[in-house]
Amino acid sequence: MKIFLDTIGCRLNQAEIESMARGFRAAGHEIVASAELAELAVVNTCAVTNDAVSVSRGKIRQISRAGVNEIIATGCWTTLQPKEAAALPNVLQIVPNSQKDQLVAQTLKLPPASFILHPFDAEPLNRVPLPGLHRRTRAFIKVQDGCNNQCTFCITTVARGAARSRAVADVIQDIRFALDGGAKEIVLTGVHLGSWGYDFDLHLTDLIQAILRQTDTPRLRLSSLEPWDLHADFFSLWTDARLMPHLHLPLQAGSDSTLKRMRRNTDTSSFRELVAAARAMIPGVAITTDIIAGFPGETEDEFAQTLEFVRAMNFAGGHVFTYSPRPGTGAAKMKGQIQPEVRKKRNHSLHDALDESAKSYREKFVGQTMSVLWESTSEMGERGWLMEGLTENYLRVQAYSASPRWNEIDRVALAACVEEKLQGTILMEAFA
Ligand code: SF4
Repeated sequence: MKIFLDTIGCRLNQAEIESMARGFRAAGHEIVASAELAELAVVNTCAVTNDAVSVSRGKIRQISRAGVNEIIATGCWTTLQPKEAAALPNVLQIVPNSQKDQLVAQTLKLPPASFILHPFDAEPLNRVPLPGLHRRTRAFIKVQDGCNNQCTFCITTVARGAARSRAVADVIQDIRFALDGGAKEIVLTGVHLGSWGYDFDLHLTDLIQAILRQTDTPRLRLSSLEPWDLHADFFSLWTDARLMPHLHLPLQAGSDSTLKRMRRNTDTSSFRELVAAARAMIPGVAITTDIIAGFPGETEDEFAQTLEFVRAMNFAGGHVFTYSPRPGTGAAKMKGQIQPEVRKKRNHSLHDALDESAKSYREKFVGQTMSVLWESTSEMGERGWLMEGLTENYLRVQAYSASPRWNEIDRVALAACVEEKLQGTILMEAFA
């Protein structure tokens, strides 16, 4: 069968469709690059914002218009609104998040045990980047699912259920599949990554140490980490140069009273201390973040505190989300919902503050030579191939090359900042 896999939203969704691809391939099916080529499609939906929900619906309609008669809807939006998903054209199967691990087995009507994401002990299958839009050099590896926290704005914890960790051996096996398939960077991902191991009385530190000990991963990167899961000694892991000097620590708000209404398990002084410890122990580390603009009840004063705190933290970048009430969350029922135009205005101010500190962070690296993993080739001009990729500290770099260098790691002399990217020259050693 020709199968098209589509995903919306987070790295975890991406990691999951990559695992599904391996399962379908092992059973002899072909993963195709677009819906037009497919007989069956799986759509891993998202519910984190209203926009993500409408994109999820749109993708399913688009795939059915492309002629796919059998669509399987899974993921967070499908889990929260199965009836609405089932009502969309050509959706023949609904697989909630809790059964996603068995989606390949259910679809192929095979005994579940044979397809729980590690289908082929006898016949290991290397990760092969997905064809088409979802082709990635970096391998996203799911290590954990669900969350036991109840941040009042968060629908993910509702859609994904209680926190559960994958066993070290399973994670290591997935990483070996990815490395044998040619991946040069492994990205650990989950819903609440920092809670990995709590169900085994272990900590994420133990998993990272096991990965660095048992695999020759050239680059290991961590996805978003909730600040309260980390302590200063966590940063001693970065004595291993294979661990990428980039920490994404969602702050969400820079006012303690707002953080309280969000039921965030942190406050501004412990966040500030954690960032200071990371910067002291990991030279040049990039600290990025997420901020919510216009959370219910956010006064002008609270917003001013958040803006000032964001400026003081000097982040290397991040995302600003305009608060989006999600049915089923505590915040959606809160009094003091902020006018949409005010939320938008606050988003712009926070965005400008993050852009400013991100720019000054980038400029610090002009004149330096850094390693870049090339992720895309955007054009073939008189100057050669224009490559684009990421440094170890998550800076986006462009450089010209005589030959395509997709999925290669090169040393690059960084010459200038152009908008949100750095321009550089690949050192000739790469072509030796
Ligand atoms: S920690 Fe909070 S924001 Fe993160 S997944 Fe859990 S409930 Fe959602």
